[in-house]
Amino acid sequence: MALSDEELDRYARHIVLPQVGGAGQLKLTAARIAIAGAGGIGAGAIPSLTGAGIGHITLIDDDRVELSNLQRQPLYTSDQVGQRKVDLAARFIGKRNPHVECRTVADRIEADNVDAILSGHDLIIDGTDNFATRLTVSDAAVRLGIPLLSAAAQQFQGQVGLFRGQPCYRCFVGDAFDADDCDSCAELGVLGALTGIVGNFAALIAIRAIVGIAPDPAGTLHLFDGLSLTWKSMKLPRDPGCRTCGEGHEART
Ligand SMILES: [Zn+2]
Repeated sequence: MALSDEELDRYARHIVLPQVGGAGQLKLTAARIAIAGAGGIGAGAIPSLTGAGIGHITLIDDDRVELSNLQRQPLYTSDQVGQRKVDLAARFIGKRNPHVECRTVADRIEADNVDAILSGHDLIIDGTDNFATRLTVSDAAVRLGIPLLSAAAQQFQGQVGLFRGQPCYRCFVGDAFDADDCDSCAELGVLGALTGIVGNFAALIAIRAIVGIAPDPAGTLHLFDGLSLTWKSMKLPRDPGCRTCGEGHEART
C-alpha cells in the first residue's frame, strides 16, 4: 500500500516528523479505531483522529444532540438539536477527510452486543459517561485482546489511561460501579473546554500508540487539573484478584 499524491500533501506535516514518517502515516491509514461515545470526549478526539487519516472509525452512541451538549461538544451546532449524534459526527468526518471510512452504531453498548460491535478494531477509545458502560467496554477489550484508551472529564478534572493487557480498567476502578448508571457529568457539571483537552489528549495517545512512538504509556493514568493547570501521571498497579484480567479470571477465554 502506498500513499497517493493527494495523501502525501494532506499528511505532509506528519510525514516530515522523524517519529512518524511515511511508514507511520501508513500505519494510521490502516488503523481501525472504535469510539464509544460521541459526546464531549468523542467530539474532542474525532477532529484530530480524522485529520490524522485513521483508516476506519466506528462511532457508537445512541444519543441525540441536546441544547445542554453544545457547551462542550464542538461537532454539533444549535440547529442540529434533536438529531442523532453519530449521523452528524459521521458527516463531519466525511467532510473533513474523505479517506476515513466511518461506520455508525446508533445503539447503547450492552453486554450482549459489545463483542460484536468492538471486535476487529486495533484500538478502542471509551468516552462514555457512566461506569457500567465503561466496565462493559473494558471487559470486552480484555476478552478481545484490543487496547483500551479510557478518557473521562468531570468538573475541572480530566483523566486518560491506555490499558493493554494488565492492568486493565477494572483493576483501576474495581467492581463497585457495575450497576452505577448515573450520568456524573450531568450531576456534577464539567467545564466545556476540559472535555476538548481530554478528548484531544486521548487522540494524541491513540496516534502515538498506533504509530508506535515511545515511551509506551500503557498502564499509566494521566490526570489534568483545570484549576491548578497541572498534568500528573501515575503508574497503575495490576490487581491480582481482578475478575477480568487477574488469576482465575472468568472473562477471558
Ligand atoms: Zn484487571
